[in-house]
Amino acid sequence: MLEYQAVKDSLNNKTILVTGAGAGIGRTAAIEYAKHGATVILLGKTVKKLETVYDEIVNAGYPTPAIVPLDLKGATEQNYIDMAETIAEQFGHLDGLLHNASELGALGPFEHIDLASLDAIMKVNVTAQAIMTKALLPIMRKAPCASIIFTSSSVGRKGRAYWGPYAFSKFATEGMMQVLADECDGTSVRVNTINPGATRTEMRAKAYPGEDPQTLKTAQQIMPTYLFLMSDESINTNGQALNAQ
Ligand code: NDP
Repeated sequence: MLEYQAVKDSLNNKTILVTGAGAGIGRTAAIEYAKHGATVILLGKTVKKLETVYDEIVNAGYPTPAIVPLDLKGATEQNYIDMAETIAEQFGHLDGLLHNASELGALGPFEHIDLASLDAIMKVNVTAQAIMTKALLPIMRKAPCASIIFTSSSVGRKGRAYWGPYAFSKFATEGMMQVLADECDGTSVRVNTINPGATRTEMRAKAYPGEDPQTLKTAQQIMPTYLFLMSDESINTNGQALNAQ
């Protein structure tokens, strides 16, 4: 685990978009980023969850966030173009993008892979992230320096039996990061992945129903890597696959 200790104002004046900000790791990252001075844009599927995170941030006295309700499964390229325009109008540019939202889908033997579920997982975990990034890159290039973080998994670095489309999507995520990081090399935009490792969230409980959640790290405990990659401390880190644990 990274021993990085973020200073209080390390994200001051930065605007950071977090996907899947209503629950789990995304919720914790959004609140941590706000706590360190960032204005966060909370993107997610369930508006009520986003509003709860919004209230938590405002009540704590951190910079007022923004909410973007969007289901990545049904989102179109135009949705992302419109979102980029709105962010440009309100904030001028975007300093950070944490691609955190993803879906686990059904785990099981390869022969049981269902085409519709495979398409749905790839849409949310890969296609949506690629097209959103494409739309946001122009306003990220306007930032003094910008950080894009994709969220990977252990099964996106080494294949594991029965992890099906989720694992394929995480390998694709690593590939997307490498392609974009190489294109951005030497520019003001840096691109990396984080593998959070086993973390106490709903997704983990769904994947390992028999596991005692108390044996797992909390989302809060894995935040140093998330803070490091968003802060200017990581300005020279590009194309890296990091582990949060
Ligand atoms: P959770 O399932 O707890 O939270 C996922 C978040 O993503 C939720 O806020 C959810 O919104 C949102 N989301 C899911 N689908 C969509 C969609 N179609 N459109 C918009 N938002 C969506 O997951 P975790 O916090 O555990 O995982 C976060 C990331 O970390 C994921 O990329 C996951 O693959 C990765 N990861 C997690 C590990 C772990 O042990 N927890 C281990 C390795 C990787 P809503 O609540 O509204 O459905």
